[in-house]
Amino acid sequence: ATFESLGLSKPLLDAVEKLGYKEPTQIQQQCIPPALEGRDIIGLAPTGSGKTAAFAIPILQKLWDAPQGLFACILSPTHELAHQIATQFEALGAGMGVRCAVIVGGDMDRVAQAVALAKRPHILVATPGRIADHLRNTKGFSLRAIKFLVLDEADRLLDLDFGTHLDDVLKAMPKQRTTYLFSATMTTKVSKLQRASLTNPERIET
Ligand code: AMP
Repeated sequence: ATFESLGLSKPLLDAVEKLGYKEPTQIQQQCIPPALEGRDIIGLAPTGSGKTAAFAIPILQKLWDAPQGLFACILSPTHELAHQIATQFEALGAGMGVRCAVIVGGDMDRVAQAVALAKRPHILVATPGRIADHLRNTKGFSLRAIKFLVLDEADRLLDLDFGTHLDDVLKAMPKQRTTYLFSATMTTKVSKLQRASLTNPERIET
């Protein structure tokens, strides 16, 4: 398969070419078509497989098809991963005027983050603790209109004692949304989270 054959928009194809991606990786070939059909996805894939672009590309394609403010929320277990994800969204969305915000603990003060949220980014990349904090304390901030949720490295999200924060964030989101869950391993906790937050997902293993 090629990126062209996946039916992506011109700005996305241009971005992919500029990044030097010659062809979709295995997980991208498996993920992008069902994602474009609107399916929920559970992907068992390690870092390094190209999983970030596997979820970023369909989300950006859907944003291109039907633009709106605050479109997708990506939850990451670590600051470093959150920044890497945002960097990929910015690179892939460069030709579309996509706005991303990274909301993690410690990085920026809460006021600066509240200002960033008020600018209505399309893509929010966050750790569960800090986003739960903003849901409680930042006036006017809501996830009610979000269309996509990504739970990245779900096994680590659950390991890190993010449990209650994760519950708070999930409760703040509409039930009518598309959810992608990625994990390196399928643990009991991950399958519980899957059952609670995904609907008839396409299961992808690489
Ligand atoms: P990830 O697994 O998402 O952390 O991605 C690992 C690395 O692969 C990142 O540096 C990506 O920029 C790169 N990458 C993602 N998709 C492709 C592709 N189709 N071709 C070549 N490199 C890619």
